[in-house]
Amino acid sequence: MTLFKLAILTPYRLLYSASAESLRFVTSDGQIEILAGHEPFVAPVAIGAVRIRGPEGERVAAVSEGVATIRPDRVELLIDAAEWPEEIDAPRAAAALERAKKRLETETMPWEIERSRDAAARAGNRVAVAALAPSARG
Ligand code: ATP
Repeated sequence: MTLFKLAILTPYRLLYSASAESLRFVTSDGQIEILAGHEPFVAPVAIGAVRIRGPEGERVAAVSEGVATIRPDRVELLIDAAEWPEEIDAPRAAAALERAKKRLETETMPWEIERSRDAAARAGNRVAVAALAPSARG
């Protein structure tokens, strides 16, 4: 399998910088898979799980919104926030999800609803990805 260089960055950290065989993430059009040699394009990254298959197996991370720059031999994801499953504070994410759901019961302004929906999506994604951590699986 041909490898490509993959970097996943946030404004605060470099989450991943190594070779990969395949990268799957969610865009506005749904999930896509990138392999080496892909034609160049730029795509939005939506809140979701990023799945990296590399020479040492598959890794999953939770990501917030961002942008992906694809080139045949190099892929870069610049995203607001990203965490490996074992880094996620699951109770914090569950509390954030409850707060966002509670706000949505009373909010009426479109910008408030959008903000709370985004917060709920980030938190729900973190809850789901945290469950993939070895310690969560028992
Ligand atoms: P919260 O309301 O819990 O702060 P949030 O969705 O507003 O959640 P973000 O703005 O997406 O948080 O992220 C802010 C920073 O906090 C980022 O560095 C992100 O990685 C980290 N972070 C947010 N939630 C968690 C969590 N449950 N566990 C670990 N890190 C988290």
